[in-house]
Amino acid sequence: MTQNSYLVLARKYRPQNFDELVGQEVLVTTLSNAIKNNKLHHAYILTGIRGVGKTTSARIIAKTLNCLNRAENEVKACGTCDNCLAISASKHQDVIEIDAASRTGVDDIREIIDSIAYAPVMAKYKIYIIDEVHMLSNSAFNALLKTLEEPPAHVKFIFATTEIRKVPVTILSRCQRFDLRRLDETEIALHLKNILSKENLEADAQALEIIAKMSEGSVRDSLSLLDQALSSNNHAQFLPADVVEKMLGLNDRTKVIELFDFMLSGDFNSALNSFAAFYAYSSDITQLLADLMEVTSKVTSTKLIKNYRLDGYSKNNQEKIAAIALRIPLSSLTRIWQMLVKGHAEVSFSQAPKMAFEMLLIRICHLVALPNLKEVLLDLNQSQNSSPKLEEKIAPIAKTLNSEVATTNLEAKNVEEINDDVVNEILRNFEGSKIV
Ligand SMILES: [Zn+2]
Repeated sequence: MTQNSYLVLARKYRPQNFDELVGQEVLVTTLSNAIKNNKLHHAYILTGIRGVGKTTSARIIAKTLNCLNRAENEVKACGTCDNCLAISASKHQDVIEIDAASRTGVDDIREIIDSIAYAPVMAKYKIYIIDEVHMLSNSAFNALLKTLEEPPAHVKFIFATTEIRKVPVTILSRCQRFDLRRLDETEIALHLKNILSKENLEADAQALEIIAKMSEGSVRDSLSLLDQALSSNNHAQFLPADVVEKMLGLNDRTKVIELFDFMLSGDFNSALNSFAAFYAYSSDITQLLADLMEVTSKVTSTKLIKNYRLDGYSKNNQEKIAAIALRIPLSSLTRIWQMLVKGHAEVSFSQAPKMAFEMLLIRICHLVALPNLKEVLLDLNQSQNSSPKLEEKIAPIAKTLNSEVATTNLEAKNVEEINDDVVNEILRNFEGSKIV
């Protein structure tokens, strides 16, 4: 295949019929039945995130209704008749596609309304596909309303929108609505795998998982990413995961996990060096903080949920996260989470974000290096073989921690009653009072 003739995957594999429309079973079943029984609504509204297949579905509906070779009780457009070909190419005279984002005014709608009265030129139905319909002005919606109430029998409307809540109820109540759902990562990965096999190509399962995760439910985005990945890979027969990671800048993720690991080991020398290496290439510290928060959340989930799936992470990184989850107690993870959340706000508002971040690193390294407060308390309890009040306990521990946790507003409690909440509250006070 030469580069000149290369057709992007999203176009090459754009579904041409209902049976090729992945994941939209409700729409497919309902419309197939309506078409078979000839019980069509005069207006449909399709809603869903971008790239989920709204315009594609609209064209499939238009094609199925207007295909010259379709048998009465069939729902498959032939794809080869004049109507099918023209609609697929968006060139059919009777299938009018309007982008409401660029034509929002009442005059644009008047133009449509004026043309509605004329019979279709070469097809059975005149079909108006209005994309991003929520962008129409109020007066345009009002102009449309009357026509929508009683359109001529040869007219069908198909509206598409990413923001259904911005569409007036008066319009919604006159349309049959379909919510196109975003596909989950497994469905997208499978879809990509099928397409690759049609292209006689193969990929690491991990590579497809990463793309599926990054495309956030949009088939179109997943195909664009796959296209990019194939071309970064020089269209070689096998697509390895590291090509995809590199393309998406996920090598950075390995570095983020590494930095996280240094923090958790209380090794702030290495943590600062690792941050310096990051800062040499990027000054987006709030993004780095968001990435650290994501790692914290992934480690926590791995710790708490059996067989938690780290989709989109390379095998190497999955192993690293699993190892950290095994090593670090939950209380430390929640503490680090709190500090990162607080740090995120501090860094965002700081005049000197780099320094603010470095101070945060030092604080976290310092805190995790401290002995586990709960253990110290229980140890003390055992060694003294008595249960004095918590306040009395706090003094020696405060000394151990080189801090004055005396500010704690905890009610006096016996050591036996100390649970993670109590420990966390003490630590919050500790954090606030000493390490700033
Ligand atoms: Zn046809």
